[in-house]
Amino acid sequence: MNYPHSTYATLKTLFDTVLDHLFPTKCVSCAVEGKALCDNCIQKIQRAEPPRDSFIFSIFDYRNQTMKQAIWALKFRGNRSLARIFAQAIHDRLLEETSDKMVFENFRHPLIVPIPLSKKRMKERGFNQSEAIARDLSFINTGGEWELGANVLLKIRDTAPQSSLKDKQKRARNIQGCFAITSNGTVCDRNIILIDDVTTTGATLREAKKVLQDGGARKIIAFTVAH
Ligand SMILES: [Zn+2]
Repeated sequence: MNYPHSTYATLKTLFDTVLDHLFPTKCVSCAVEGKALCDNCIQKIQRAEPPRDSFIFSIFDYRNQTMKQAIWALKFRGNRSLARIFAQAIHDRLLEETSDKMVFENFRHPLIVPIPLSKKRMKERGFNQSEAIARDLSFINTGGEWELGANVLLKIRDTAPQSSLKDKQKRARNIQGCFAITSNGTVCDRNIILIDDVTTTGATLREAKKVLQDGGARKIIAFTVAH
């Protein structure tokens, strides 16, 4: 059955509330009951230094131990309530940034595009953390202005984890040509918000940006939880 966006968001919130009652969530860092990452712990995480590429915005400093724990819990333990918390942080920052007219002029009706996993990696993990964050980001924006483009980008080739490569050039080469767009019409003349969990050298996001630009996308910005 096809529910309207708002109905679906309400059902999801209800479902999450029920789950929270059945299985109380604990903070990944201090284990206090309530949230997957409590307000106290999240406030202690340093903000990220701005990445070199001006189109990338990052929220938290990835060198922080709590941040590392939280990303790990989302990515490998599938702790989805963290996706909601990260999406909220990105949403708040996005609203702050929209006052910057230089970056966001005419940035209307954006498509939220998560960095995809390869088929193989998706099978192993059964869960794409970036997609979970992107999905929650589209739920938070209740006006329906931000559209989720979960299947816009495809990862057509499996690559070694970027974290296993220390050299910047090796990272860029590793990721080259690994993304494709499912249909050119989807991104043509669209504004795009790319979403990923962590960025280091920005190679993945630059590669995704290039592919989207080739597909005719208009303005492309990227948000990551950590850097
Ligand atoms: Zn805590």
